[in-house]
Amino acid sequence: MFRVGLSGALIADQDKHWEGSNRHYVNDAYIQSVYTAGAVPLIIPVTNDSDVIDYILDICGGVILTGGVDISPLVYGEEPIKGLGKLSPQRDEFELLLFRRALARSYPIFGVCRGMQLINAALGGTLFQNIEDVPEFTIQHLQKACRQAVTHHVDIEAGSYLMDALGKTCLVNSWHHQAIKDLAPGLRVTARSRDGLIEAIESDNPDMPPIIGVQWHPEELTSTIPGMAKLFKNFIELCRKRVH
Ligand code: MN
Repeated sequence: MFRVGLSGALIADQDKHWEGSNRHYVNDAYIQSVYTAGAVPLIIPVTNDSDVIDYILDICGGVILTGGVDISPLVYGEEPIKGLGKLSPQRDEFELLLFRRALARSYPIFGVCRGMQLINAALGGTLFQNIEDVPEFTIQHLQKACRQAVTHHVDIEAGSYLMDALGKTCLVNSWHHQAIKDLAPGLRVTARSRDGLIEAIESDNPDMPPIIGVQWHPEELTSTIPGMAKLFKNFIELCRKRVH
């Protein structure tokens, strides 16, 4: 069966018997979404060893960069501002390496939330460290509703990869306090929220593999919104086409 790699994250266990021990994990919603799309999910552990990454990439045909904590602004050449959230420099290093190795193999790459921001930063773009400080962003992007609730619209560009799955406009969940500021070369914006924030990107360079990034969390919506399940299905199809 076809395999897709998902970037893992580290979390310190809170259980009293295991307190302080780190665990590598991926949220179950991603795992279920990949299963449902017809592929086998492989969790890639946080590592700075490129041999480990290459070995796992040998047995995958595409990569999903998962959501998580803020990316260090040092990655895109800025000092941290007061509104910056939690960081994981270990994970930044790991995912930048994973992204570059997957790109070098022309693997399709799908970035979710932090994953989309990482793609932009890796290719030379920048981020708003805290959108609460940016007056033009008036929509609530860090929703207080549960993750499975859809709370704001996005308008999708014609001819984009997203359009096939989601149409011209759709409702999404929103669980972010950062956003893309300067778009990296080689990318194009394919969806925005109605306050103008970049909600999706795609690669726009014939030398690049298909790269798709979304600012929302489609993995939380695949069982309730057919278009979100189709987004995963289409991505798996892209990976399959690339391999054969
Ligand atoms: Mn949003």
